[in-house]
Amino acid sequence: MKYNKKSLYDIDLGSEPVLVRVDFNVPIKDGKVTNDKRIIEALPTLEYLLDRNCKIILLSHLGRVKSLDDIKSGKKSLKPVFENLKEKLPGVEIAFEPNNTNKDLKEKIKKMHAGSILLLENTRYNDVDAKGQVVKHESKNDPKLGTFWASLANVFVNDAFGTAHRSHASNVGIASKVKNSCVGFLVEKELDMLSKAIDNPLHPFVAIFGGAKISDKIASIENIANIADYILIGGAMTYTFWKALGKNIGNSLIEEESVPIAKELLKKYGNKIILPVDSLCATAFENQEPKHFKGDVPDGYMALDIGKKTIKVFNKIIKKAKTIVWNGPMGAFELPNFEYGTKELCQKLAKSCVRNNAFCVIGGGDSAAAAINLGYENAFSHISTGGGASLAYFEGSDLPGISSIKDKA
Ligand code: AMP
Repeated sequence: MKYNKKSLYDIDLGSEPVLVRVDFNVPIKDGKVTNDKRIIEALPTLEYLLDRNCKIILLSHLGRVKSLDDIKSGKKSLKPVFENLKEKLPGVEIAFEPNNTNKDLKEKIKKMHAGSILLLENTRYNDVDAKGQVVKHESKNDPKLGTFWASLANVFVNDAFGTAHRSHASNVGIASKVKNSCVGFLVEKELDMLSKAIDNPLHPFVAIFGGAKISDKIASIENIANIADYILIGGAMTYTFWKALGKNIGNSLIEEESVPIAKELLKKYGNKIILPVDSLCATAFENQEPKHFKGDVPDGYMALDIGKKTIKVFNKIIKKAKTIVWNGPMGAFELPNFEYGTKELCQKLAKSCVRNNAFCVIGGGDSAAAAINLGYENAFSHISTGGGASLAYFEGSDLPGISSIKDKA
């Protein structure tokens, strides 16, 4: 899915206000941002606009808003993000607007100084009305809401890759109404990296899928199977495939309804799909001392990680790879005794990047969190900020948040 969208360099910014959709959906605890990676990733776009003395109006969602209590409790407020952003941009005038559909917003924006920022409250506050009814004006792209936000500026910059696979009022709604639009630097980088991996891969091309839910990843596996030379499967997904092959899987986690799909995938792409050959097991989903089993999982045990032999098999393939994409952990990596497979995989991939100059992309979500937590943040060519969006890209699906942006001339 190649895009040819306007970038910030294609826009005549002038002195008009600029509306920027960012992804500040960050974890917050006790009123403080606990991981500000997404805020940091948005800074290049913000600094570019500040250098040009733009008035910047920022929009972002934070979590899901399902009730008036979510709003009244302040748990889903962007205020902690506002505080964090002020620390990141000292000397910059930054204000917060608690009512993101305030009728006086245009007047407020008129009075903003050049080179200042106004952060609007969580876009998903508009998913619930004043009576507490779930109306999803943001999440279902209510045209009135998108039109209102689009009326605040002539230029819209979409720099929120994490929501690119969704059609919301704060991305598609604005983009379809505003005069001029472009992608920000973060989205531009994401698209360049994913396109290099998927649209134009150097071979051997190896795709690695893990995690629990095969149903979320079937479309990606199918699409990539047509391009990749190898598909390595790990995580709980393994045991749905093993079940399809008639192996004993003990109490391992599977998606029973996906067994026929796994059978179908093996029939179609059996020559490319490489499955684990051993596993680390426990009697429950607990941080027990792992028991190693080759082949089948005995009754009473559940497989929580891949084993040494599997890593060896995978590494033989990884060593030869020129392009690698990875989505989903190899095991229940949250349990320290079962982080082995994911950690080893990270190490082998990082080596392949350095020694073999392989181009290696991690598709966000849990695998990105695992790679970062295990200390491999800088070892890869790219770690995506959008788990769902990068999976949609792997599927070959359109990303409406991107396709709604104006094409380059
Ligand atoms: P997903 O959202 O599909 O990427 O799945 C990620 C989750 O899969 C993580 O929370 C892991 O703990 C879980 N997971 C990975 N491997 C296993 C396994 N063998 N058994 C149970 N859970 C697993």
